[in-house]
Amino acid sequence: MNYQDTLHTQREFFNTQKTKNVKFRKMYLEKLRDLITQNENLLYEAIDKDFGKSKFETYVTEISFVLKDIDYYLKNLNSLSKPKKVTTNLANQIATSKIHPEPLGCTLVIGAWNYPYQLSLSPLIASIAAGNCCILKPSEIAEHTMRAMAKIINENFPPEYIHVFEGGIDETTEILKLKFDKIFFTGSTKVGKIVYKAAAEHLTPVTLELGGKSPVIVTKDANIEVAAKRIIWGKFLNAGQTCVAPDYVLVEESVKEQFLEMLRKYITEFKYESNSEQYTRIINKKNFERITQLVNSHKVYFGGNFNEQNLHIEPTILHNINWEDDVMQEEIFGPLLPVISFINFHQVLNSVLEMEKPLSAYIFTNNDEEKNLFIQKLSFGGGCINDVVMHLGNDNLPFGGVGNSGMGSYHGKFGFETFSHQKAVLDRATWGEPDLKYPPYSENKIKWIKKLL
Ligand code: NAD
Repeated sequence: MNYQDTLHTQREFFNTQKTKNVKFRKMYLEKLRDLITQNENLLYEAIDKDFGKSKFETYVTEISFVLKDIDYYLKNLNSLSKPKKVTTNLANQIATSKIHPEPLGCTLVIGAWNYPYQLSLSPLIASIAAGNCCILKPSEIAEHTMRAMAKIINENFPPEYIHVFEGGIDETTEILKLKFDKIFFTGSTKVGKIVYKAAAEHLTPVTLELGGKSPVIVTKDANIEVAAKRIIWGKFLNAGQTCVAPDYVLVEESVKEQFLEMLRKYITEFKYESNSEQYTRIINKKNFERITQLVNSHKVYFGGNFNEQNLHIEPTILHNINWEDDVMQEEIFGPLLPVISFINFHQVLNSVLEMEKPLSAYIFTNNDEEKNLFIQKLSFGGGCINDVVMHLGNDNLPFGGVGNSGMGSYHGKFGFETFSHQKAVLDRATWGEPDLKYPPYSENKIKWIKKLL
């Protein structure tokens, strides 16, 4: 079936009201959970073909995430989908007021390649939980994982309910011409703007999960060893191809040497070798070339070697970096970590403020004033104090960007809300109504209205 016909059948199916039944949603969430578990090996093999990612990393950063999402909704769906009673103001008495969460209808999820399962399936799961139909278009860049998801879902879900379309720019451009009730996009800021424009044609609401340069600040009041260990883990996970990875480090001059030494220590200890369990390769030649061109060989503190044959780039620390260097002009999205030193904490916050609002920001310090200033002054999607990346794993926190790094959020109840409309209903009694609001108006009525409103 073509895109238009599939969407048409999904709209007809949505109008049957079947997806609004919570039992129906749970049945398909359970089915998806079983399919993921039964096909775990197929999923590992596909991601290994795409970018040599280990079972361990795939389970921790992808499969377990998706299974956790399903379990969250299975456990919380009854309460999330229940109408919520709110108080009714005096002027509307006698009545009850309720917010009814309702599914938006036919939704489109467009995924990115760097965590291909999580970034496609988590929004799909939230869309199912909220009672929608969904078309999923995973990223063609990770083509084996795209095919694996299409196979698993298209062989087991009715296309009038959930369907996966494979394809790249041309296919997505065609799909984006259609009128959806919601578009959820994960990817670059550049393509986010294309999606936003296409959605505007139909006044379709969007959630845009985009990227940006996420800073880490390390001050002299930090535990330097813990900072280095956590930053190395978060940066070189997936070879730096993580939207919330620390992009660059701003370290206080007085602890810079100690910090650099610790970075070196942990890169060595973690054994990030080519083709190893610990370390992933770069997704394709285009990205390999883009990343390696950002390396100024005069500024390499550690690493700096790469192999075009197997698309491997060593974990690389760049030092003596300034804001004008090429590596500071775009999101790196690869295993290069530029380090800039600073003397004045207030000035360094101002430098970050001059950049676009990042998806994440991190600070390592045990100084409460610095922590407070970091939170109050900087605007960013989400982040951590004394850690990196881990905020993503707490479902009670919304995950999303702000400004150039996106709009809207998901995970846990925020994912449910992202794919729902909050329908407001006032239910009034047909007795006990004063004549106050009805014509003919009078001075006396104004007097009473003023008191009431
Ligand atoms: P991308 O924008 O190139 O592609 C994302 C999706 O858009 C893919 O499915 C692709 O097929 C489609 N697409 C690409 N060009 C298109 C076009 N011209 N018209 C219509 N559709 C098009 O992004 P990517 O390379 O897959 O991912 C990297 C970017 O995504 C980075 O900036 C990263 O920070 C960001 N990202 C953000 C998050 C998040 O959760 N906020 C997660 C992962 C990645």
